[in-house]
Amino acid sequence: MRDRSEPIKAAYREMHSVCERCGIQAAEEVHHERPTFVTLTDSVRLLVTDSDIADCLADWNWFAQDNFVVPEGHKITRLFDQHHQGATLQSLCKDCHNSTKKGVKHKQ
Ligand SMILES: [Zn+2]
Repeated sequence: MRDRSEPIKAAYREMHSVCERCGIQAAEEVHHERPTFVTLTDSVRLLVTDSDIADCLADWNWFAQDNFVVPEGHKITRLFDQHHQGATLQSLCKDCHNSTKKGVKHKQ
């Protein structure tokens, strides 16, 4: 499901080509600042049925195309876009993006 946000993230990165954290290096990653990507997809998932998902995937040729793109106008696409619009994105360079990952520490 992560691929579904790629066009949105790519568009965001085009508009914010410099890292928003350090303001120096070129942005290479778009990070979901808030809510997290998992929260976002979970909230969309709650609103769609299995048949919505099957329908969405039905026309997709997995072998011909590398990145999955949700069909324009599909229920899932609309829900995803709605939720994604409310999300805060950040364009980050590699170093800053890595530091967001390091910031998440798991207790053992
Ligand atoms: Zn940076």
